[in-house]
Amino acid sequence: MRKTSKLKGEAHINSVGVSVPAEEVIPLNCKCRFKCSETFSNDVRGKICADYYAMGDKFRQKDYLLQRLIVRRVQRRRIVSKEPSGIETLSQTTQISVAYYLEYQGTRHRVCQSFFLKTLCLSNRAVMTATDGKTVSGTFSKMDFRGRQPSVNKTDDEHRQTVKSRRESLL
Ligand SMILES: [Zn+2]
Repeated sequence: MRKTSKLKGEAHINSVGVSVPAEEVIPLNCKCRFKCSETFSNDVRGKICADYYAMGDKFRQKDYLLQRLIVRRVQRRRIVSKEPSGIETLSQTTQISVAYYLEYQGTRHRVCQSFFLKTLCLSNRAVMTATDGKTVSGTFSKMDFRGRQPSVNKTDDEHRQTVKSRRESLL
């Protein structure tokens, strides 16, 4: 019984006997490129959040999340070592890129990660768990949700530079 009300996000007494209030969305005014707040008002976000917890079933909630996430694998090249001659050893790393969508009354709109998580009162971990089965196993453990990505442009420039100097040395 205790577990069910927790899944529904209703006010409940937790395992140590402390009363936990019902889930409430944190008011947000997101100014990112997806214009999240323009599409989904705090009022609507409250409804989306309530609907999510009203399902009260973790499998349905997982489905719900999977329908709102687009997971892509992105190949990135990285220079591992560089010889004085300019010959580089490159490694391919695969990173996971996730696009987040929210839906309300037939309107589906892409939102940023933080807007998505805050609206559904979820942690990155909850999303990772939900998406785990969606990709090749194991890839998610390497995922960086904090937005720290290797500088791709820089690597490409360096690579181009080396190719250029190698070409010149062949002339
Ligand atoms: Zn946003």
